[in-house]
Amino acid sequence: MPEGDTIHRAAATLQRAIGGQIVTRFESVLPKLTRVDADAPLRGRTVDRVEARGKHLLIWFSGDLVLRTHMRMNGSWHIYRPGERWQRPHRDMRLVIETAAMHAVAFTVPVAEFVTSRELANHDVVAELGPDPLSDNFNAEEAIERIQAHGDVEITDVLLDQRVIAGIGNVFKSEVLFEGGVHPETRVDALSDARLAELVDIARRQLAANVVETMPRFGRRTTGRMAIAEGLWVYGRGGRPCRRCGTPITFARQGLGARPTYWCPRCQTA
Ligand SMILES: [Zn+2]
Repeated sequence: MPEGDTIHRAAATLQRAIGGQIVTRFESVLPKLTRVDADAPLRGRTVDRVEARGKHLLIWFSGDLVLRTHMRMNGSWHIYRPGERWQRPHRDMRLVIETAAMHAVAFTVPVAEFVTSRELANHDVVAELGPDPLSDNFNAEEAIERIQAHGDVEITDVLLDQRVIAGIGNVFKSEVLFEGGVHPETRVDALSDARLAELVDIARRQLAANVVETMPRFGRRTTGRMAIAEGLWVYGRGGRPCRRCGTPITFARQGLGARPTYWCPRCQTA
């Protein structure tokens, strides 16, 4: 499931593959994109930079054009050399950006649109993003203040709110709360400043540890352990023993959209 770590990793990979290169061909099955390409062709533009903001991936082209994609649950970006066989079926292709040396292919991205830099600055879902723990100018104090603005909400929902802190999804939500020893149903106003600062710091550390290039091969990990089966503290481990105390991990669908939450009823009491 793509969360902030996945998107930042994809942005870094795309930047290395096509950043600074000239687009030789563009193709898409999405009419919204092909219309823009027909009016103001992508071919001949330079890929100025590729950037992640929270779970949004932004590709900046010369001539003030930005491609915004969001992967939601199943989308992914792949990089191929010209002629190389794709690892997903052609019917899953949504758009292709070709340069002389590398082709970037987006598969099943549910959100893809071209915007100008000005439209992006006024774009609700992007402009309203909270601080991104993976960005260079991450402001932890601002993230804490934004969390505290939702005092009567359960911490599990606040961590998922991209306007509060950007990039955390279901997996990291459960993992951060476990490491912080915080029960997912705790209301924000029951948590001290120090406790919130600790949660934000854990989120930043866990996300950052998963941005490194080799991670997809070994799976996401928050425990620091190398074995694939031991990568996560609680997520996906309902009914299995807690890695710290042995108590069976609890699982519930809760909060907005009834998304799954995992926690240890003994370690997470705050
Ligand atoms: Zn435990």
